[in-house]
Order: sequence, then C-alpha cells, then structure tokens
Amino acid sequence: MTDTNTEAPAAPLFTELGLEPDVLATLEALGYEEPTPIQVEAIPTLLSGRDVLGQAATGTGKTAAFALPLVQRIDADRRGVQALVLAPTRELAVQVAEATHRYGARRGVSVLAVYGGQPIDRQLRELRRGVNVVVGTPGRILDHIRRGSLDLSAVGYVVLDEADEMLDMGFIEDIETILTETPEGRQTALFSATFPPRIAQLAARHMSDPVRVTVRAPKLETPLVRQAAYVVPRPYKLEALARVLDLEAPTSAILFCRTRNEVDELNEALSVRGYRPEALHGGLNQAQRDRVMKRFREGTADLLIATDVAARGLDVEHVSHVINYDIPQTPEVYVHRIGRTGRAGREGTAITLVQPREQGLLRGIERVVGRPIEVARVPTVADLRARRVELLRSAIRETIEEDEFDGYRDIVASLADDYDPLDIAAAAAKLAADATRGEEPENEVEIPQWENRPQRSHDDTRGPRGRRDSYDGPGRDGPPRGRRPRADMTRLFIGVGRRRGIRPGDIVGAIVGEAKIPAEGIGAIEIADQFTLVEVAEEHADTVIRAMSRAAIKGRPVSIRRSHD
Ligand code: AMP
Repeated sequence: MTDTNTEAPAAPLFTELGLEPDVLATLEALGYEEPTPIQVEAIPTLLSGRDVLGQAATGTGKTAAFALPLVQRIDADRRGVQALVLAPTRELAVQVAEATHRYGARRGVSVLAVYGGQPIDRQLRELRRGVNVVVGTPGRILDHIRRGSLDLSAVGYVVLDEADEMLDMGFIEDIETILTETPEGRQTALFSATFPPRIAQLAARHMSDPVRVTVRAPKLETPLVRQAAYVVPRPYKLEALARVLDLEAPTSAILFCRTRNEVDELNEALSVRGYRPEALHGGLNQAQRDRVMKRFREGTADLLIATDVAARGLDVEHVSHVINYDIPQTPEVYVHRIGRTGRAGREGTAITLVQPREQGLLRGIERVVGRPIEVARVPTVADLRARRVELLRSAIRETIEEDEFDGYRDIVASLADDYDPLDIAAAAAKLAADATRGEEPENEVEIPQWENRPQRSHDDTRGPRGRRDSYDGPGRDGPPRGRRPRADMTRLFIGVGRRRGIRPGDIVGAIVGEAKIPAEGIGAIEIADQFTLVEVAEEHADTVIRAMSRAAIKGRPVSIRRSHD
C-alpha cells in the first residue's frame, strides 16, 4: 500500500534553478539530492541578478543558497576580487570559505578566508597572489582595506551572512564602511535569522529593491510521538547514535541523513558495528530499491537509512522509531519525517541528533510543532550496562512466571549437590547475558554532554542552554552571548567540567595564574558536565594553551585545545 499522506509536495530539482552543468555535477558528487526551501527561492533570484534579503538560520542550507550563484558568477581567469562575503566570526568565515571552495572547485574558483587572529602576513601574501572570493570578518577586512592590501573596486557580488549576529557584535559601522568601498552596481545578498530595525535600515541604504526570501513555517499537526533530541558535536555523532540505538532497541527504525553520501557512510559504519541497516537513496535503481524495501519489511534489516527524497512515498506502515541523524533543515521536513511513526494510535519515538551550532533549528522546529523537544543526556556505557541488567532481570522474571522450564530443573538439581543454588542461578544468568551481549567497548569514548534543558520561553533564542553554568566574563555586562565567540576571541576546550566540581572562578584563577594574562582577556565560560568551553582573546590563546598544558586545575592535569565546534 502506498501512503499518500506523507507525500511531500513536489519540490523543484537543482536542475530547474538555472545552475550550470559543472555546478550541478559538483552537487551530484556531494550527494545533495534536492534543494532546500531557501535554495529553491534564493538561487534563481540571485542568478537573475536581483538583490536578496534572506531570512534563514544556520542549517537551512543558506550557505549553498548564496554560494552556488556566487561561484557561477566568478570568472576564475580574471584577476581582482570579484566577490566578498562578510561573516560574524572566524569559525563561520572558515566554514563559508570551505563550502564556497567546494562548490566552485570545478570552475577553479579561488577563495580566501581572512579573520582576526590569523597572522596577517599569510593573508597579505595570498591577497597579493590574487583570489576570486574573499570571505572574512568585518574587522579584519577593514584592516586590509586600510592597509591597501584589499581592493574591492572589482567586486560584483557581496554577501552579508548572519547579519543580525554581526550587528550584535558591533560590526555594523565597519560593514557600512566596507560597503562604500564596493562598486555601486554590485549585487548584494543579506542573510539573517532575525530582522531588527537596524538590519532593515542597512538593507534599505545599501541594497537595491531586494527580493525578500523566507523559509516558510506554517503550523503543522504532529502525531503523538515521544520526541527527544541529543546535542552532540559532529565527531561524536556515530558513537552517540550507536548508544541511543542500544538504549532504545527499536523494532524498526528509519534513519534520515541529508545527503546520499552520508547515507552510504552511515550504512557502512553501522554495518561494521554489527547492526543490520539498509541504505535507500536516489542513486539506487528501482530493482535495488525493491530489494532494500523487501529486506526492511521482512525484518532482515531493522534499520533503514534514507534521504528525504528516497523516503518519499515509501510504503511502510509504521516504524517504532524515526531517527534524524542530521537535523532536518526545515520544520516541515521534520514533521514529515516523524509522521512515519506513532501511527494508528501506536506509540512512536522521534529522535534527533543536533550539533551544538544547529540548536537554533531545533528551537524553530519546537515553535512550529508547538511542543518542547526534550534534550536528553547521551547514554553512557554505564547507562547501557544498567539497561542490560534491567532487561535481563525482567526476562528472568517473565520466564519464571511462564513456568515452562521443567526440562532444566534436573540440571540445577544435579548441580545443587555441590553448589549454592544462588551461585547456580547467577552463573546461568551470566551465560544468558553473555549470549545476548555484544562486544563491550575497551575504551569508553567520553561524549561531551549537553543536558536536559529546563522549559524556557520560545523567544529566548540565544545563550547557553540548559543546566550548563554560564559566566559572561569578568567585568562584562549585557546579555549572555551565544555559543559562538566574538571575532577577536577564541574558544578553548578544557577537559574538566562540573563533575569535578569546576566553577568559573577555578577557570579564571587557573588561566590568570598560570598564563599570566589579564582577566579582561577571558570571555564567556560555559561549564558542562565533563568539559568546559572558555573564550580567551585570540592574542592570548596560544599562551594560555601552552601554560595550561603544563598546569593543573584543582590539582589535576587537564587537556586543553582550541574548540572546533
Ligand atoms: P548551512 O545552513 O549552510 O549551514 O548548511 C547546513 C548543512 O546542510 C551543510 O552541511 C550543507 O553541506 C548541507 N546542505 C546544504 N544544502 C543541502 C542540500 N540541498 N541537500 C543536502 N544537504 C545540504
């Protein structure tokens, strides 16, 4: 039976947006199957030469929405900077530069990221060599303009990414100055999650008749399913997923990934770990699809890993779990995905893995779904062990109540002459446990924990979440900042947290004492269970890392490094 209820409206394909064959080939190689809503709207508009005001948060695919038209407009053989992207932080600048490089690789587009904190000499050298696209933080870009090392007179395309963040960080005047250095007739795209008046003014002054592009978010019904999310930094996602699967023990589950390549990678990784997954994506022909679906329906495979496109129109009645290995890029897609479970009055569970920087998307989904989504603690190996004990105990209890083990009484009776009955039963329980238990991991991977969030207001879109202690830096007023450090600050990861009784004062004391830097050089501190993130001024970052690697906090040596998330 094919289910029509879950059919999403047919979305345009990448081939219908006006992208050139080499760009389409790149997208194919990246495994992107279809454009996200913001891409559907922004790409043709930008390709037509119009200015765009886009409302979209991180995770919606907005980078590709502006970077694909951007790379298509670059003439790689021409000298001089042709496109400029401004981003609030070094991390975002690097990410956008990498994405732009990837999207433009087949066209030979050269991209440079410039940001504060990196030695300026290297940037000067690269700029002198000539690059097509510059992606940078406003402060450093202005620095280069003033030094005469960055000439924007040939720029035809400017992007302001996360404009509201740049506003919050006090970059707005720098941005205005930079824009006046670019030619009048340039095309401008501005992306922002929110549009406070100051951003609207900026747009009115520096953009010409922009088309407003918004990711639509109508209210949608959701079936009654248990919804949970785990906040997990990217490198820990697979381990976290494996533990969640072990804890939940789904009878049948669909796992969603964003791209075809991710589906294949996850399929392989889970197979290696002893699960029985099947992969379903747009790269399979009909016969292959049919085979996959047969194995899933018959239960030979209990996990189906799919892209949204491939899962469309699947004839699966009900699954116990829907797992978003990647958080969906819009609330609609979320609702559509979880509609696969909790059907016909049955219980269902929807689980979403969220990277720390994608938490904005999760809140967007909560708003549309109209229910909070619990952020749960990723199970530890000890939790899984406890869960297995609980399962074993209830299995034994059931077996006793069923009372169908006459054939085994003789064995126990014969052993009872020599051993204590309690020991016999315990040994039998161990045998049963060994027979069902998988390999115990030798070294437990410690997954950083973002704990349960208390209920919070929906318009609280920034600030550290949940029970993480946060501290906004010595002598600094104002609202707590989000998880992204200011452009001149760097976030460091320190491998101790609340569990070892760490408080902000310990961190400040250790850094000031050991690295001998002024307290003003320390920004926000977030203390999680097993680790701490602390912002320090970029100029002091290396000194702090060096000093702290030799030092101790609360009498224990600690690991410290730059945080990449
Ligand atoms: P962004 O919102 O730009 O930060 O993008 C979020 C993530 O989605 C990035 O990892 C992109 O590689 C990925 N992505 C962007 N567009 C698509 C698409 N059309 N299909 C699948 N993945 C995408």
